[in-house]
Amino acid sequence: MIEKLEAIVGASNVLTGADVGRYSHDFTRSYTWTPLAVVRPGSTAEVSDIVKLANETRTPVVPVSGNTGLAGGAQAEGAIMISLERMNRIREIRPKARLAIVEAGVILSDIRAAAEEQGLVFPLTFGAQGSAMIGGNLSTNAGGSNVLRHGNTRDLVLGIEAVLPDGSVMDLMSELHKDNSGYNLKHLMIGAEGTLGIITGAVLKLVPKPRAYATAMVAAPSLDGALILLNRLQEATGGAVEAFEYMPRSYVEQHLKIVKGAREPFDTPHEVNILVEVGATSPRDANPGPDGRAPVASYLESVLEDLFEQGAVLDAVVAVNEAQRREMWARREAAAEVTLSRLPIQNNDIAVPLDKVATFLERADTMIACVDPGAQPMVVSHLGDGNVHYAIWPKTQDPETMNRLMEGVEEIVLDLGGSFSAEHGIGTAKLPSMARRKNKVAMATMRAIKAALDPNGIMNPGKVLPVD
Ligand SMILES: Cc1cc2nc3c(=O)[nH]c(=O)nc-3n(C[C@H](O)[C@H](O)[C@H](O)COP(=O)(O)OP(=O)(O)OC[C@H]3O[C@@H](n4cnc5c(N)ncnc54)[C@H](O)[C@@H]3O)c2cc1C
Repeated sequence: MIEKLEAIVGASNVLTGADVGRYSHDFTRSYTWTPLAVVRPGSTAEVSDIVKLANETRTPVVPVSGNTGLAGGAQAEGAIMISLERMNRIREIRPKARLAIVEAGVILSDIRAAAEEQGLVFPLTFGAQGSAMIGGNLSTNAGGSNVLRHGNTRDLVLGIEAVLPDGSVMDLMSELHKDNSGYNLKHLMIGAEGTLGIITGAVLKLVPKPRAYATAMVAAPSLDGALILLNRLQEATGGAVEAFEYMPRSYVEQHLKIVKGAREPFDTPHEVNILVEVGATSPRDANPGPDGRAPVASYLESVLEDLFEQGAVLDAVVAVNEAQRREMWARREAAAEVTLSRLPIQNNDIAVPLDKVATFLERADTMIACVDPGAQPMVVSHLGDGNVHYAIWPKTQDPETMNRLMEGVEEIVLDLGGSFSAEHGIGTAKLPSMARRKNKVAMATMRAIKAALDPNGIMNPGKVLPVD
């Protein structure tokens, strides 16, 4: 097998033994595995040849991009791990059509930087963007901090290319905004976490780069008060709120404790801390007025003043330069560091309707106090889209208690009309939730699709679909 793989990609691109070290665990080191080999193809044709070989020999195949996934989806015990890292070419950026054509191994921050050079943005952003790659972003349908304005990765893609489990190449590299020619197989591959094929290329949508940002830390009396702010700002700016991120006091305290040089967001501590950012793309909203300030900052300030008088805002600090803006973002982007500063954790990435986030948090806190007295939640939330990262630092660390905590979260979420998986995917981490909670007809349909495309079950086996 190794010789055949070397014949496809060259000996230097087949790693075995000690060389697979950095590919044999996830970012959190919660999962470890030993792949049969890590193979680094340089083209779609090579990916196709590897997959054909794997299919003929019934060898499991696991695609890996930046390996920043948080759901255990790239575990590859005994499998051929196909790393997309060498397929990192930005083939074309076409500013007039507002699109970029890329290979799947392009690092997210690289395509963002290349788009910025053209005055455009690929509006997917989150803490791991310096390592995560487009193929991994598509396969997990990643979310992040700008979903509120621009949608999930799914919404940012015009076309894809994928190698199916028999090695055939499905070329759907459409540059079209409208194409109703049959089933939408692009969306079938997006969010499939590598269980239906390997994404090798994509046509991405680009949007105008904001000429100015208005960014603030805001303290609200409650989450409901924060939603008043969000809706008023959307009205005042024509829907230009790019980010609306919630950090409770416990998060701020932990951040202060573990990050050197971290500072309090306000003079007085507050329970509900929001990072809000509005982007202005038009010169009318962005060009500085006689006072030297961009009008978009004035819109933000006047909404904050109004709401302050009404008691819906308790305190606010508006960034007056890029350094202050970066400090606000650094606090939010330290989420993984803050959450993982104590182990083990029971990680929950859930979504509920925006007006039910407060109820979710109250009920979840009550639940964990009953199931595991002394356990501590560590919360950070993309509040603007209803996504809550509700990590639990358990007191009792036995697997049974961890499972009951997960079940307890699921029950509350489903009761509130939410989802137990918002943006990180299922991988292996949420297989129990899928087995317990996913609609049975939907599960049967997913299994039928998997069996049709991957009858030999070689493509990222054991992920997304629980054992029947
Ligand atoms: C600090 C930090 C912050 C994060 N913040 C966010 C956030 O705000 N929002 C969010 O959504 N996620 C977040 N994540 C999770 C993670 O970054 C995303 O899931 C990201 O999209 C994964 O990309 P990746 O390239 O690292 O994929 P990987 O981890 O390599 O792979 C993820 C899954 O996709 C499959 N896969 C990888 N490449 C391909 C391919 N080419 N074709 C088919 N399948 C493939 C893998 O088998 C695996 O199942 C964060 C992670 C970290 C560490």
